[in-house]
Amino acid sequence: MKKVSFIGLGNMGYEMAINLSKGGFQIIGFDIMQDRYKELEKHNIKCVPSIQKALENPDVIITMLPDGEIVRNVWEQIIKILKTTPLAIDCSTIDIESALYFHQQTNANGLPSLDAPVSGGVVGALNGSLTFMVGGDDYNYDKAKNLFDVMGNKSILCGPKSSGQAVKICNNMLLAVTMAGVSEAFNLAESLNINTQKLFDVVSTSSGSCWAVNNYCPIKGVGPFSPADNEFKPGFSSQLMYKDLSLAIAAAKKNNLNIDFTTNIFEVFSKILKNNLGEKDFSYLKEFLK
Ligand code: NAD
Repeated sequence: MKKVSFIGLGNMGYEMAINLSKGGFQIIGFDIMQDRYKELEKHNIKCVPSIQKALENPDVIITMLPDGEIVRNVWEQIIKILKTTPLAIDCSTIDIESALYFHQQTNANGLPSLDAPVSGGVVGALNGSLTFMVGGDDYNYDKAKNLFDVMGNKSILCGPKSSGQAVKICNNMLLAVTMAGVSEAFNLAESLNINTQKLFDVVSTSSGSCWAVNNYCPIKGVGPFSPADNEFKPGFSSQLMYKDLSLAIAAAKKNNLNIDFTTNIFEVFSKILKNNLGEKDFSYLKEFLK
């Protein structure tokens, strides 16, 4: 498991590929946008002009792409080109149907597969501290674990095929809901003339504590350094949160499940995007709600 084809070298894939290269893997990279190829080549990554050229005898193929439709299309292309049966890993965040389609397509052509979306954002990708949520079987997870260990500091086999995507969707839905609660609580405190530092001091060690307060407090100068201290530069953009909430809503709809809180917050993010604020970190929610 030495030779890795890496498809999708954007904000996340770029850093993940570099960490794999540093970790001793032989990387061939491909992206339709080739403006960062020169930088990647400095990290010993061979960057190629076509997807065909990226698929010469890999042990593993990793995709890190924007959405489910692109993942489906790219894997359809890969399968047509491949003559061998390397391990297929999709690390993109996508809808569950597309994840299942990826597994079906690859497996039908003899490729073992894992869905392995990540948490930790660009900083986690850069530092090699991502968390991988993996869907598939033990055998293939064990084969891929050394790759996950190089790109991240935690990987969890969440269950059978597509379970990684399901867990990722639930995690981000919870993050949005907790951030919305934090936003409303701090906005109320401000309107009651409460010092937000005092509220943080209490909440961060009380029953209201949560990751959104303790690690990512959306108020400038309060709590550890967060996007609020950096004009809401992401971090994790509102655009990406909007996308992930849409995946949660689609999954809930398919299962006839009521997720009203999430749906309300999704509508707020939809307004954030309509106001051309999608590039701002998702914790901008607090300011927007105010
Ligand atoms: P990105 O848009 O920066 O990168 C995606 C890359 O895929 C781009 O470079 C694009 O040119 C390339 N691409 C698109 N179509 C292609 C094709 N047909 N063939 C080859 N390359 C193609 O996105 P990103 O921020 O790197 O995110 C990638 C995935 O990771 C997304 O699914 C996202 O939801 C997920 N994710 C992102 C973050 C984050 O903080 N950025 C965090 C967790 C998960």
